[in-house]
Amino acid sequence: MNPELIVLMGFSGTGKSSVGRLVADSLGWDFLDTDERIVSQTGKTIAQIFSSDGEELFRKLESRVITEACAKNRVVISTGGGAFLEQKNRDLMLNNAVVICLDATPETIYDRLSKSMLSGTEAEVRPLLLDNNPLQRIQELKSERETSYAHAHWRIHTETLTRDQATDQVLHAWRVLKGDAQSIRLLEGLDIPATTVRTSSGAYPVYVGWGLKEHFTKYLEQVGIHGPLYVVTDQAVFDLQGKALQEALKDRDRDVHFFTVPAGETSKNLEVVRDIYEWLVEHRAERNHTILAVGGGVIGDLAGFVAATFLRGMNLVQMPTSLAAMVDASIGGKVAVNLPQGKNLVGAFYQPKLVIADLDMLSTLPERERIAGWAETIKHGMILDEQLIEDIELHVDDLLSLEAEATARVIRRSVAIKAGVVTEDERESTGQRAILNYGHTVAHALETATEYGEYLHGEAVAIGMTAASVIGLTLGITPESLINRQSKLLERFGLPVQCKEIDLESVLTAMQLDKKTTDGEINWVLLSGIAQPIRQSKVPQTLVKQVLQDLLY
Ligand code: NAD
Repeated sequence: MNPELIVLMGFSGTGKSSVGRLVADSLGWDFLDTDERIVSQTGKTIAQIFSSDGEELFRKLESRVITEACAKNRVVISTGGGAFLEQKNRDLMLNNAVVICLDATPETIYDRLSKSMLSGTEAEVRPLLLDNNPLQRIQELKSERETSYAHAHWRIHTETLTRDQATDQVLHAWRVLKGDAQSIRLLEGLDIPATTVRTSSGAYPVYVGWGLKEHFTKYLEQVGIHGPLYVVTDQAVFDLQGKALQEALKDRDRDVHFFTVPAGETSKNLEVVRDIYEWLVEHRAERNHTILAVGGGVIGDLAGFVAATFLRGMNLVQMPTSLAAMVDASIGGKVAVNLPQGKNLVGAFYQPKLVIADLDMLSTLPERERIAGWAETIKHGMILDEQLIEDIELHVDDLLSLEAEATARVIRRSVAIKAGVVTEDERESTGQRAILNYGHTVAHALETATEYGEYLHGEAVAIGMTAASVIGLTLGITPESLINRQSKLLERFGLPVQCKEIDLESVLTAMQLDKKTTDGEINWVLLSGIAQPIRQSKVPQTLVKQVLQDLLY
């Protein structure tokens, strides 16, 4: 059996062609309908071939097309309902392809064929429907064919399935049949959310897995989202992922509009917000329509802010494309834009209805951005989950190369940690959410002091975590072994743990101005062990200065 070829066979009206096209689209393969190929090769309709040349010639042509098709790779083939009855065709298909039979009851088949108003291209459709008792004829023919159809490698009953659901089942069958145990496990990401975030405005699932965007419509339906989609993305993401995204979002029943902004932090401002508002007005966007944020944290924050404010709140779906946005920014409902006076000064808590992190997106993310994203994942492990740290330590190389299973597992776990904290303290009112700021006090100051030009956020967080742990050590809170373990792990990812040529005074000033200070006191998050965070506001400024002097040289 060649796993690079899929044959869909079965009775007319079971959805072979429509599902076959969708399966081919999902896999990025070609689609070939044997009846259509015969029509294009002969220039005659199937009915004409039958009436002028007879069924025998038709079957010869059909066998030839099947023989050619079975020699190909990466093709989904849909065959006529009678093709599988010929032993020669059957053997060829069973030996060279994954053969999946689509099935339905005679009543459903009759119903579907009648609705298609005799327009089916298949040879048998017209005479069937013109029979005195078409339903009975379908029943007879089906049972005659049963012994042949029973040879298929797999059977899917399409009775109660939408086309998308049938497509998912075909893909699932194909993965199982080609013995790809890993894919089967990864497929779990399709149906089982990595986590569910529970907030005052409702609960929402976060899906993490490979190839999720192909099932986008299904996820929207699950959370009850219908109507037009307004996709906000940045130019870099659009250039690299736009085509695949447009394909994945294509839906006969839904208008999809795209708005792109320049990539980077500079787009997170009120002028761009106004441009998006105007675009939404132009398209007559309504409150129950949906904004889809496709991008890194900048897009999530920007599009999220628009969703929170336009018409007092539209539906928001986050599709994070950077690692940092997947494990952090897309979850938790913080949305904001910058003012010239400072970052994230205007914003809201506004939860999405759904988060879909399709790990395929990471393949185009620049390496430096990817590495920076792992810093937030390590942070999640350091504050709440030693097992996650162990898993990361064991799989650094796998994570750096985006090995499918380890990447999915670690990101799913990281996402669940962030979601758990948000669920407990949605609006930072109990202080629990503040533990996510581990490493961020110094990180934000460093980013401000270097005007966001020197370090990516994750890199600054890596330095910030190191600073926090050394401060903890000096205060007798953090064990030295923790610092060593943390630094070693960060360095294995190529993340910085110290920095040079930084103006210490600017960092200290920025730290004092940070909006997370209370009554002039900085709220530090320190660790007394892995997964043992402590909030500490009484840290002498002289000590902070001394630690930073050593790290920022
Ligand atoms: P970003 O959105 O600027 O993305 C980083 C770069 O990667 C951009 O150039 C982008 O175009 C590119 N990119 C993203 N995905 C890509 C892909 N799949 N392929 C190719 N290129 C891709 O930055 P970020 O690090 O994702 O997020 C940082 C922003 O997130 C900041 O504005 C920060 O304030 C915000 N943030 C928000 C929260 C929150 O809770 N809301 C949390 C953390 C950070």
